[in-house]
Formats: sequence, C-alpha cells, structure tokens
Amino acid sequence: MANPLYDRLFGKHAGKTTPFLILPDGTVVTHADFLARAAQFAHVLTGLGLAPGDRLAAQVEKSPEALALYAACAQAGVVFLPLNTGYTVDELTYFIDNSGARLVVCDGAKAAGLAPVAERLGAMIETLNADATGSLMDKAEGQPDSFDTVDRDAEDLAAFLYTSGTTGRSKGAMLTQKNLLSNSETLAELWRFTADDVLLHALPIFHTHGLFVATNITLIAGGALIFLPRFDVQEMLRLMPQATAMMGVPTFYTRLLDEDGFTRDLAQGMRLFVSGSAPLLAETHVRFEERTGHRILERYGMTETNMNTSNPYDGERRAGTVGFPLPGVDLKITGSEGEELPQGEVGLIEVRGPNVFKGYWQMPEKTREELREDGFFLTGDLGMVDEDGYVHIVGRNKDLIISGGYNIYPKEIEMVLDDQPGVQESAVIGVPHADFGETVLGLIVPEPGATPDLDAIAAAAGATLARFKHPRKLLVIDELPRNTMGKVQKNILRDAYKDTFA
Ligand code: ATP
Ligand code: MG
Repeated sequence: MANPLYDRLFGKHAGKTTPFLILPDGTVVTHADFLARAAQFAHVLTGLGLAPGDRLAAQVEKSPEALALYAACAQAGVVFLPLNTGYTVDELTYFIDNSGARLVVCDGAKAAGLAPVAERLGAMIETLNADATGSLMDKAEGQPDSFDTVDRDAEDLAAFLYTSGTTGRSKGAMLTQKNLLSNSETLAELWRFTADDVLLHALPIFHTHGLFVATNITLIAGGALIFLPRFDVQEMLRLMPQATAMMGVPTFYTRLLDEDGFTRDLAQGMRLFVSGSAPLLAETHVRFEERTGHRILERYGMTETNMNTSNPYDGERRAGTVGFPLPGVDLKITGSEGEELPQGEVGLIEVRGPNVFKGYWQMPEKTREELREDGFFLTGDLGMVDEDGYVHIVGRNKDLIISGGYNIYPKEIEMVLDDQPGVQESAVIGVPHADFGETVLGLIVPEPGATPDLDAIAAAAGATLARFKHPRKLLVIDELPRNTMGKVQKNILRDAYKDTFA
C-alpha cells in the first residue's frame, strides 16, 4: 500500500541532506531535518487520538514547523485545514464548527480566547508559535524521527481549504490527494521546475497559492524555498539574487516596481516570475518587462480547483490573459442555460479535470449548484477565449452589473478609468437605481498627491464607452477594500454605496 501524496512530495526526500527551506537569517532546513520534524508531529497527532480522515485546523504563523505540520497530516492521513492568520476568534468559531476539526493548532496568544470555543465544539487545542515554541513542540520533543506512513488512496481527502471569502462566506473545499498531486505534477513540468530551483517564497501558507502551488511544486522538483515569514520588499530585494523563481500576487510586483533598487541586475539570476490570485494589470506587465527584461507568467486558479490555466513557459505570455487550459483540464465558456458559447463570447468559465475538488464540505446544495454531474465546475468567473486560445478573465459573475437589461462588465470600464491621469486604480460596481434596477458607480483611488479631474475622466469614459456603460457617478476614495490575499472586496463597496441613488 501507499500514500501517494506523502510518498511523492515528501517521502522521496527521506534521508537527503539537500536544502529544503532557507530562512532569512541563512539557516538551512534540509529535507531530512524537515521530514524528521514532520514524523515527530505525526506521532503527536496519532498519540492524541487523531485517525485518518480527522480534520486538523491550524491557524499558525508561517514557519518551518507550520509547514511540517502539513507534511505530518499527509503522513498520518489527517485532513489538513490551514486558516488565514488574520481571522479573529469569532471567525475561527465558524471554521472549527463547520469543519468538525478534532484538533486546533493555534498561536499561544490565541489559545486563551479559543479554548472555550474548542471545548464547546469538542476539539482539542495545541499551540505552535512562530518561534517554534508551544505545546505541540513540547510534545514533539523526544518523539521518534520516523513514522510509519499511513496508507491512503489518491481519492482520499488531503485538505480542506476554505475559499478566501471575497464574495461572501468562505466555503470549505474538499481536496483529495489526487487533486493536489495531479496539479503540482503538471505545473512543475510546465514551468520547468528542477532540483536546482530556489523559489523566493513570501506568500502565506494558508492559501492554495503559497501552500499548494509554490510549496508542492518545489517539493516535487526537489528544489528549495527561501522561506520568508511575510512579504517585505527590502527582504525580497536582499534575497532575490539567491533565487531562481518567485510566485506572487499582483501587489508583490507593483511593490517591487516601486523600489529603485529593483533592477535588471538584481533579477539577473531569476528564470521565472509567476503571478496569480487576482488580475495583473497589463501596465504592471509592461513595466516589469521594461525594468527586468522578464515577462511575468500569469496563471489562473482557485481554492476549489488548484490551477486551471497558465500562460506558456516558452510561447507568448500575453498580458491581460491567463493563458491556456493546463494539460488535462477541460475549459468551456457557457451561457445562463449551461449551453456552450462560441469562441469570443463572454460567459461563465467552467472547468473539469483531475484538479477539480470533491465538493463543499457539508454544503450538498451548493455543491450541486456549482459542480455538474458531468464533472464541470462553475467557477463563478466570467471570461472568454480569444482566437488564439488564450483565456481572458472578465470578472466575477457576482460583480456583473445589469442595468436597464444590459450586461455591463466592470473590468472594461475600470480599464478606461485606470488609464486616466492621476488615477492609481479604480473599482466599478453596480448600485441600486429606481429606473434601471442597477446603475454604474465608479470609485477612483488617486495616485499619491494627485487630484484627478472627475469631469475630464467622465468625458474620457463617455468618448470610449457605449452610453449604457457610462458611470452615472464617479467618486474619489482613499483605497479599495482588500482581503488578506489582496483581492478587492466589491461586496463591501456595494454595501457601502448602496444608497448612492436611493
Ligand atoms: P470566495 O470564493 O470565498 O468568494 P475567492 O474566490 O476570492 O473567495 P480564492 O479561491 O482564493 O477565493 O480565489 C479564486 C478567485 O481568484 C478566482 O475565482 C478568480 O476570481 C480570482 N483569480 C485567481 N487568479 C486570477 C487571475 N490570474 N486573474 C484574475 N482573477 C484571478
Ligand atoms: Mg471563489
């Protein structure tokens, strides 16, 4: 018997003294060190009575030990449920309750607040702090540094990952070993990862991007991660010369570009920059290439499916697109009746493949609504495929504005607003309107120190966009609300401005 996820990500590195994690202070955690720690944790978990299929919820700061907990879960057959470190005790209550977690691992500072919640919900609590102290560490000391890997099937659950909650309450996506493995194997090959790669890792490890994409791919390839606790632009500049690849959200790239110290020279040893989780502005793409000579490779994915599409490694990386469906992934664009639309038309993006999750935990209705019987998953994103096969994301279905019977895609208007003088970025939302049902509101964030001329912007929008798309009103705001993944939360904006035309 076997445990495909553990064997292919972790087990194959047993006994190797090759570097796996390189910490900012230069400390190196070898593959063998890492696996020894994971084995000790696996002993602790089984000692606490956790059985295969049980859930372990972890809200812990990013650290080598936090990552070893993921490996320990894989080895012991426990379902790993990492949680955003920004969540409050109230928010955590939902996740612990919803997932039925048997063990909660949290930072020592949170333990007192969580203890009554855990007790009420019948979960145990252990602590793990960023500095590798805590009750879990105490229990791990002295445990054997190897563990008999628990047998698992590729169809068994490996992780519960909650969605980012950009459009509403987070949903627990059930991911199997096969979901995770198939995707990382595909991407490692597509993006040419090898044991020589050193990935600059500043993403959180509670999200699919930092945990599954970046970490799993590096493990498959046998490379190393420069493991930063968080994104710190000065640290990125200092460490980039030691790296060969980086993965980030778009804000990583704009922040790097804001630094004069970010030069072509500094990026000389890099072979790949990947962006995802939110749209990368075409302008960022262009500036990045001008500065470094590298074209950022943009890809598209989500909690429920891992990655679905990617720009090519060799061919043209087309700005404003997310590239082609990955090998093994079927992608189609459908209309409101589920019918497939012709190439070039905008509709719902549906995907099918070994990467697509098993369903939402304990949400059979939602699962039925979004996961078709033939295996296609309705992503909730709107998009189209251009004549060369590149997929374009137009926005989220929930952000679509329907005004006077017309469909309006906010992104099209945002692109016009973003191009105007003094505009740093913008968000276009639909707000209630007595005559039209909904109407278009444009929210503009000025460049630092700039005072955008709203009349001139309205005139420019008027000259480029059909009349029904013209923002009925433009407002200047300080910043757009973003969640911890850097995603603009339009539901918050819609709520804040719902009475604009009331
Ligand atoms: P929730 O489902 O709870 O509302 P969420 O969809 O933001 O939250 P995630 O699974 O973290 O949660 O994010 C996936 C979404 O991120 C995709 O559905 C898509 O809207 C967006 N996304 C990811 N990559 C890209 C990209 N390259 N370009 C545009 N959007 C992207
Ligand atoms: Mg989503």
